[in-house]
Amino acid sequence: MELIDTHCHLYDQALAGDIENIIQRAASAGVTRFYLPAIDRQSEASMLELEKRYPDICFAMQGLHPSSVKSDFNDALQHVEQSLAGRQFAAIGEIGLDFYWDRSFEKEQYLAFHQQVEWAMSLDLPIVIHSRNSMEQTIRVVREHQNGNLRGIFHCFNEDENSAKEIVALGFYLGIGGTVTYKKSKLPEVLKYIALDHIVLETDAPYLPPVPYRGKLNESSYIVYVAQKLAEIKDISIEEIADKTTDNAMRIFHNQQVG
Ligand SMILES: [Zn+2]
Repeated sequence: MELIDTHCHLYDQALAGDIENIIQRAASAGVTRFYLPAIDRQSEASMLELEKRYPDICFAMQGLHPSSVKSDFNDALQHVEQSLAGRQFAAIGEIGLDFYWDRSFEKEQYLAFHQQVEWAMSLDLPIVIHSRNSMEQTIRVVREHQNGNLRGIFHCFNEDENSAKEIVALGFYLGIGGTVTYKKSKLPEVLKYIALDHIVLETDAPYLPPVPYRGKLNESSYIVYVAQKLAEIKDISIEEIADKTTDNAMRIFHNQQVG
């Protein structure tokens, strides 16, 4: 069984002391690839260092996270642009809109999101989207740009069936993580109506651990609990979930034609 963790912050300081074991446990669970979303310049060095240490299995993205969009966002974006010109990245992410913590840079968040989507299109890279308290607005931005060439993932999807269907109609994928295992989650019901063709798996480690690890640090080997839950929802084997979601992830990150 082969699984891909499409979104994990394995370079996070919280995991640093145990990272070799974390990678080892994930490999034993069948995880063959780890996609590392960028946040901002502060965390970039540790992300690139981890990628360098595990070049065949860890793949870095580049981008400015919406919660890191502040008054200096122009400088931060310039850095992203230069970095994208200097080497190949797996994706531009995580980018998007986050109106949960702070709306004071709302306008700047839009500017940064638009700009980075445009770079993704000109570089033919997928985007990995972070959206919190902003699903309608985020979908609108993607729709404005979608000309058939934009592809990517709505990471940590945890919204209603309508949003899921709009995302699928835009040719995008739902990144499903630990929240699908939570007792009160409505996601299992929503996912009954979404074909596996539009789903990829993620952990978002060290955040959002699945049941039975809530309250602990999340790590990539726990992706098995997400896959298992999805297998129950779809009433198929975990192997089928692994095969299909792995194919989907390879299609997104390795530039095969969508659809
Ligand atoms: Zn993330």
